[in-house]
Amino acid sequence: MKKHLLNYNLTDLQSELVTAGFSKFSSKQVFDWLYKKRNFNIDSWSNISKKLREYLLNSYSLHLPQVIWHGLSVDGTRKFLLKLEDGNTIETVLIPARNRLTQCISSQVGCAIGCTFCHTGTQGLTRNLETSEIVGQYLGISNWLKENVHEEEKITNMVYMGQGEPLHNFDNVKKATENFLDDNAAGLGQRRITLSTSGLVAKIKKLDEFPPVNIAISLHSARNDIRSELMPINRAQNLEMLFEAIKSIPLKAHRRITYEYLLIKDKNDSPQDIDALCSLLNRKESKINLIPFNEYPESHYKQPSKEKILWFMQELNSRGYTCTVRQTKGDDILAACGQLKTEYENLNLWN
Ligand code: SAH
Ligand code: SF4
Repeated sequence: MKKHLLNYNLTDLQSELVTAGFSKFSSKQVFDWLYKKRNFNIDSWSNISKKLREYLLNSYSLHLPQVIWHGLSVDGTRKFLLKLEDGNTIETVLIPARNRLTQCISSQVGCAIGCTFCHTGTQGLTRNLETSEIVGQYLGISNWLKENVHEEEKITNMVYMGQGEPLHNFDNVKKATENFLDDNAAGLGQRRITLSTSGLVAKIKKLDEFPPVNIAISLHSARNDIRSELMPINRAQNLEMLFEAIKSIPLKAHRRITYEYLLIKDKNDSPQDIDALCSLLNRKESKINLIPFNEYPESHYKQPSKEKILWFMQELNSRGYTCTVRQTKGDDILAACGQLKTEYENLNLWN
């Protein structure tokens, strides 16, 4: 199989092109066509010599994930079903909010963690995504926006909250993130990128090797028995191990850590759950993001009442915690968190 041009960061492409006898500067021009001009037709790269264009065409693939279905929610959220080169499909979601447009990116086809509340988790893991497929979600959808919405419509923020556990695919996600950050490539600021993880202890300890982006930990319960029921990973890597690892995250670069807390009716929404949360989390260093459970057709959990969600938030606020509730977006097209699961057979229902 050909090497893929979107698998490279600028430094690696430079050394490869220099070895092949081209100038160092030419890789910067290639990055410009890819990330700034977003033109993927190598033949039309006018400021690049014919010799280099031929070399690129012969040596590299530039396949982008193809949009094979798209849905628009009443709240403006868009969900895309993308087909990869090997026929597998993944999903990505665009969430508009005031002056931001956030893309929710997938890092794997499926997910191995198997959380009991997660639609993706029921699918199992098929494979990791290549760097080119992670970057390709961004470039493919940027192009789609340019062609279908508006020339100036731009993705401003990125969250690794689509399908998959990003730290399970550490190296490829790392390389993609380098290109999301690099001013020669996508040039998104580090505050605009968030990596969400279910808590892979060994990989959290390696986060000092990762570019400095926001980190969100999917906590969902501060009680081991309940967390293990919700997230099987907690049986092998429990809260004590998780928090020992979290202490090793270089906080200066990563700033405050966000804890995501899914609120499920009668499962983790009691006063005892709040007490446990408060004894686990440091009030000054933690931000809690409450996520009302999104129901999907086969889910056996329920969302707590609006009053309960508000009470949970206010109780944490009154104890000095910064705590917000994440609004459910794209619910009507199954684009909300945890509802992503590629299902061809449902396509007609969504149209
Ligand atoms: N695997 C990573 C990132 C993808 S999941 C992780 O688990 O952090 C992104 C977020 O969606 C996580 O916080 C996850 O717990 C949440 N989520 C999963 N299923 C959900 C559901 N049914 N309703 C609401 N949020 C859900
Ligand atoms: Fe995987 Fe995250 Fe879903 Fe858990 S919540 S199954 S880790 S995608």
